[in-house]
Amino acid sequence: MSRILATEPVIAYFSMEVGLEPSMPTYSGGLGVLAGDTLRAAADLGVPMVGVTLLHRKGYFRQHLDAYGNQSESPAIWTPEDVLTPVPAHVTVTVEGRRVHVHGWQYTIHGLSGHAVPVYFLDTLLPENAPWDQTLTDSLYGGDERYRLAQEVVLGFGGVALLRALGYESVRCYHMNEGHASFLTLALLEELAGGRGLRAISGAEKEAIRRQCVFTTHTPVPAGHDKFPLDLVRQVLGEERASFLEENGCCLDGELNMTYLGLVFSHYINGVAMRHGEISQNMFPHYPVNSITNGVHAVTWTSPPFASLYDRHIPEWRWDNLYLRYAVGIPLEEIRQAHEEAKKNLLTEVERRTGVRLDPAVMTIGFARRATAYKRADLLFSDLSRLREIVRTAGPMQVLYAGKAHPRDESGKILIRRVFEAASALADTMKVIYLEEYDMELARYLVAGVDLWLNTPQKPHEASGTSGMKAALNGVPSLSVLDGWWIEGHVEGVTGWSIGESWELESDPSKEVASLYEKLERVILPMFYHRPEEYLRVMRSAIALNGSFFNAQRMLRQYMHNAYGMG
Ligand SMILES: *Cc1c(COP(=O)(O)O)cnc(C)c1O
Repeated sequence: MSRILATEPVIAYFSMEVGLEPSMPTYSGGLGVLAGDTLRAAADLGVPMVGVTLLHRKGYFRQHLDAYGNQSESPAIWTPEDVLTPVPAHVTVTVEGRRVHVHGWQYTIHGLSGHAVPVYFLDTLLPENAPWDQTLTDSLYGGDERYRLAQEVVLGFGGVALLRALGYESVRCYHMNEGHASFLTLALLEELAGGRGLRAISGAEKEAIRRQCVFTTHTPVPAGHDKFPLDLVRQVLGEERASFLEENGCCLDGELNMTYLGLVFSHYINGVAMRHGEISQNMFPHYPVNSITNGVHAVTWTSPPFASLYDRHIPEWRWDNLYLRYAVGIPLEEIRQAHEEAKKNLLTEVERRTGVRLDPAVMTIGFARRATAYKRADLLFSDLSRLREIVRTAGPMQVLYAGKAHPRDESGKILIRRVFEAASALADTMKVIYLEEYDMELARYLVAGVDLWLNTPQKPHEASGTSGMKAALNGVPSLSVLDGWWIEGHVEGVTGWSIGESWELESDPSKEVASLYEKLERVILPMFYHRPEEYLRVMRSAIALNGSFFNAQRMLRQYMHNAYGMG
């Protein structure tokens, strides 16, 4: 219906990773899926937004797990030409004093009523580039510091240049999805300075850039914020830019901090859940930090059986996710049937992938997310004899795992092996399956088809978490540590269950393990096996209370209202 005109003021959304389609391995986890969900919501709501990211010809990586859970990796090669169209724009950026040529590809998201949101993928695979420069848009989060810094130059400087080359003169707002994109601020400052150079930029001019920029931070873990040694910054960006970054408060202890750069030149800054906003405010006391809690794209993450259930009872849900609140009126029997079908679809897919047949009558627990230390994938297996006793007295369980460890994250890889070890130690008690190659496609099966979504992050490290929101849209309650979004989404025994208590600000693993086992043994398994109607009520409340709020429509409206200055 409506197309974005290059002359219309747009929101330019910059993200190092974007999850658009299962066939495009251009994301690694929650951050990229969130970017995709945000852009999909913009298309549905008719918001004039454009996305900017890198092409990642070799993707993140393909994950291979041997019989012991040892992970190996290979490039996730795909064919951009099959899904993207080239755009008539060619720009250059400067890396280590060399001109690097960049061209772009377009993917178009069509919203519910036809509104189109373009996503531009920057690509340096051009014959006029030196061999190393040609690889800069190959691997997501691959390579060394120098490679990563050069990639961020391509994203920030190349992204702004490409938008100009495509005719986007009037941009209402530049939204940085995490610090990887912060160089866009420097690109805007240089554009404003024209031939005068960065040194000549006035305070009022900096303020003008600030008014156009929005920064979202995604992790409360200091190590998760991109930093680069200043010597490297000098080498890659040159003396003038490096000095400017130093003089403008973007560096600390001889390092450029990409989060500081984003903070310094943004007028609106936010964390991605209430608690994360508070923690970020304490980390960055000199800047006002707000919260906008993440949400997921409801139509993308609702499984076919639940989508047709909602279509029958609350057909408005696709256009206005708030109507999911009316799920309170859906008969429990129909929730049961829809879930039975989603579970069957999942178990069929598991059998197709692994040859293992799971029992549809058994309580099935799901745990899938990036395999990294703070997510504690092995917490469930802290006490195997206790777990055996729970199964004996309260009823059977089976567990499905999935998740990739970053190729250099040794502790993440150890976690995967520990799940494999527990799986074989528990072979007499319960089936535990670790599925390879976690991606959006597998996520869609898992979040809909299990009976319980488990989340055990170490507090307060989970900024938001979004997979539990996807589960809620499919009536799957969470059993989770009270961190990230769950602090807001949790109503005990109504939308799911907590592990530990809300007033504990930091994790106490022994208390959490005790709580996890007690909830399974005394509350969840007895309800699931002996009071199924009560369990269905929890499922229905998860949809009505959490599906109606933790969605990308609500999130995007909050960004429009609070950050983009759009009504
Ligand atoms: C939603 C999603 C995530 C994020 O999961 P969290 O539990 O929020 O960490 C990661 N990977 C994929 C493929 C997803 O779909």
